Amino acid sequence: MKDEQLSFEKIKKLGIVPIKDKENPLSYLKSIRLKTVLENYYTDKVAVKEIIRKYDLPIDNVMDFHRYLPYYYTKVMCPYDGTRMCAAMPSRSNFKGHSPNVFCLECGHKKGTVCNCVNCQKESNREKEKIIAILDGIYKNSEIRIENIGFIDRINIATLLQLSGNEYGYLILPFKQYGRSATGSITDEILTGLIQKKY
Ligand SMILES: [Zn+2]
Ligand SMILES: [Zn+2]
Repeated sequence: MKDEQLSFEKIKKLGIVPIKDKENPLSYLKSIRLKTVLENYYTDKVAVKEIIRKYDLPIDNVMDFHRYLPYYYTKVMCPYDGTRMCAAMPSRSNFKGHSPNVFCLECGHKKGTVCNCVNCQKESNREKEKIIAILDGIYKNSEIRIENIGFIDRINIATLLQLSGNEYGYLILPFKQYGRSATGSITDEILTGLIQKKY
């Protein structure tokens, strides 16, 4: 379903997030006054220069005004803490076709992505652990037989050995001449060990 067209009226109904950042020149306005400023900006289309003058806002460059617009509450709930997620108010020239970047003020989660927020990171770590546990369940202590290693994997392993050989200046001898390898066979543990080192 397509999002219904956003308007300043709708934003007012959803709720404007109070500006807490003291660096923001609009943070000094009381909430009613802030609404009037925004009304002037969005509805009455008063020139930004005029708004800055009228409300004595400490903004030097007219072009900066839209960067200080507050966030508004969207209808989207954060899947992690159930609080209403927010989005930055668009500049009046960008209102049409505005597709908001919705995020959570509580935990920083960004809607629709696995993002860098603490909760997403925890979640993806849990997923990784689950996958490792499943793989462990299947493969732990099972010896990998050489004939079960696929063609591409064999090439990869061979390339890896060859590159190491070149780097350290030794020749790769035929397999049967390795009489003193640790176990005499390639085990799952050896492979997972290599994979986990993330070369
Ligand atoms: Zn959240
Ligand atoms: Zn997140």
